[in-house]
Amino acid sequence: MTNFDDIPEARRETLITSVEPSSAKSSSSVTIWLLMALAVLSLGGAAIWWMRSSAATANAPNVTPAATPDSVAKSAEPNTENTANTSDTNIPNTATSTVSDQQNASDNLLGHRSYEIAETSSLVPLSTNAMVLLKPEVAQKVETMMAEARAVGISLDAISGFRTLEDQRYLFFDLKAERGQTTQTRAEVSAPPGYSEHHTGYAIDFIDLAQPATQLNASFEQTQAFRWLEENAAYYGFEMSFPKDNEQNVTYEPWHWRYVGNQESLELFYQD
Ligand SMILES: [Zn+2]
Repeated sequence: MTNFDDIPEARRETLITSVEPSSAKSSSSVTIWLLMALAVLSLGGAAIWWMRSSAATANAPNVTPAATPDSVAKSAEPNTENTANTSDTNIPNTATSTVSDQQNASDNLLGHRSYEIAETSSLVPLSTNAMVLLKPEVAQKVETMMAEARAVGISLDAISGFRTLEDQRYLFFDLKAERGQTTQTRAEVSAPPGYSEHHTGYAIDFIDLAQPATQLNASFEQTQAFRWLEENAAYYGFEMSFPKDNEQNVTYEPWHWRYVGNQESLELFYQD
């Protein structure tokens, strides 16, 4: 008779049962049946193993840690955006980036929201500084604001408006490396590329020409230009983007304002 000793006990019974009716056949025939049964069992086992491992892969939890604004710790370091160089003003406005660069961006990165890059053809330069490109409606309001401030002896001006992805890559990655900053420390003073309000053409960095040392510095809040903005900017549709203790946990930037005076800009800055 056939020897079943190499077959596990659980399978032995069914094999014996199925083999019994053909016990009259030769032992070679029984061996072929056994081999076929073993092959079927092996294939079945392999199929089950494959299905289980596939399911396990599909159900694997996403363990990528997500950075949240809350995880960005406030730094006691002074804002260094204006040190070493005046990077904000020296960047050529060569818009080679496209909106498609933004397609994979998530809505929020290190406390900064994602923004599409404005078409440069939709922007106009400021009369006092051709490097500052803004949406026409914003530029017109800023021109009026500067004239109104000038009328009362205040030298309000601007040094930065629209920025390309390349501009922001330099400001974020290159300066981060140059200064040996951590990602989170850098994010407190600069938005990652694709996440700057300056990409929209609706954000602007104001200065007081009478006090150049306060450019892009928290000390800008002590200038006449800042006091004028505090009292008047809302009448022109502007608000400070990053006031003290803002929800985004971005360092206080009294010089950085955004226009929220029309539907498009309001949706840009307030829509979830
Ligand atoms: Zn700014």
